[in-house]
Amino acid sequence: MFKVNNNYAELPESYLFSEVAHRLAAYREANPDREVIRMDIGDVSIPLGDVVVKALCKASEDMGTRTGFHGYGPEQGYLFLREKIARFDYKEHGIHTIGAEDIFVSDGAKSDLGNFVDMFGDDIRIAVTDPGYPVYVDTNVLSGRGGKLVDGKWSGLTYLECKPENGFKPQVPTDGVDVIYLCFPNNPTGVALNRSELKEWVDYAIEHGSLLIFDSAYEAYISSEDVPHSIYEIEEAEKVAVEIRSYSKTAGFTGVRCGYTVVPRALEFKSDSGNQISLNKMWNRRQSTKFNGVGYIVQKAAEALYTAEGREMIRENIAYYKKNAAMLREALEKKSWMVIGGIDSPYVWAFPESNGVYSEGASLTSWQLFDKLLSELNISSTPGVGFGECAEGWVRFTGFNTYENTLKAIERIESGILK
Ligand code: PLP
Repeated sequence: MFKVNNNYAELPESYLFSEVAHRLAAYREANPDREVIRMDIGDVSIPLGDVVVKALCKASEDMGTRTGFHGYGPEQGYLFLREKIARFDYKEHGIHTIGAEDIFVSDGAKSDLGNFVDMFGDDIRIAVTDPGYPVYVDTNVLSGRGGKLVDGKWSGLTYLECKPENGFKPQVPTDGVDVIYLCFPNNPTGVALNRSELKEWVDYAIEHGSLLIFDSAYEAYISSEDVPHSIYEIEEAEKVAVEIRSYSKTAGFTGVRCGYTVVPRALEFKSDSGNQISLNKMWNRRQSTKFNGVGYIVQKAAEALYTAEGREMIRENIAYYKKNAAMLREALEKKSWMVIGGIDSPYVWAFPESNGVYSEGASLTSWQLFDKLLSELNISSTPGVGFGECAEGWVRFTGFNTYENTLKAIERIESGILK
């Protein structure tokens, strides 16, 4: 008999995005004359900028020459990119605790979020926010830390509830947990944490010997002054936090695939046998064993993002998506929706007034609201409950569609019957 990892059987099918696609396809088939506007997409709509395309072409041409050919590269990423990251993303922001040796170039945030669980012992306690990006839960369940699934929650995981009462901001746990996944600005809620709120998490981790996995995929969307761009802006965070970043939503790299993970050399834990363990060394070992690095061509494209032209392109792209989000936010507020996010984030998190008093339970579930928006306004959204039980009754709208489509969606919201 061939034995497989039974945790795969325990994990339910990834329901959210396939169900959205299924309902959309059914609606379109039944209503071929109606134009549905996709306000659910998590992918970007602006094509790659010239500066990136030129860098991709140049690096590809180099690869066809004797002198410019690059075979296997360093598993950690080329120094030319890691040095730029250290300088432009950290030192220039006043963070001197992070250097090129702390940075590992990745093929995007999802892979590293998924792979980091390799470093955890079997019986450690994991905390995730509810709602949250599903990868944190699913990868830990696949590694056997889920326990039993009861009423949509895994008994082996600690859920940090995020609700309107706490502004969708998780509270530090009352007991000790070993690893905490934090994502700010958040997907799906769009909520960002200010300096003192982030400091609470760093203090907690220092006090309890916990590790923070700080998913910072939407860092580029931060514009509020008191919201740090990096967890390492908080003193001593380099002793307790890993930061995961991505060029996907920053520079339209969702199809190019590049990001990086910061595992500071200062991040050390005591092993069962009392030895100091360096997570940086462990991650380096893991990457050298299981990963052969990101392609030279892709890393050259990422390097181009740190030129003046690259930075300008990023600034323009982010401003475009943020404008969409701000317009959506305003339109929904005018219709008396409860609205969160959309300020330091491309996502707008929303709950219609007609959906009842939140604390007494929504009158429409997220999926019913999705159906209503689709049939009455021909707008698709992402049902909040797909990110966690605490999000029942909420939906996520995205600023990632084009300006023109966002305007059309707003006209429908403004003239529509949904309040
Ligand atoms: N983390 C969050 C919170 C995300 O929303 C996403 C993508 O949507 C990712 C990570 C994955 O990003 P990447 O494209 O870098 O794998």
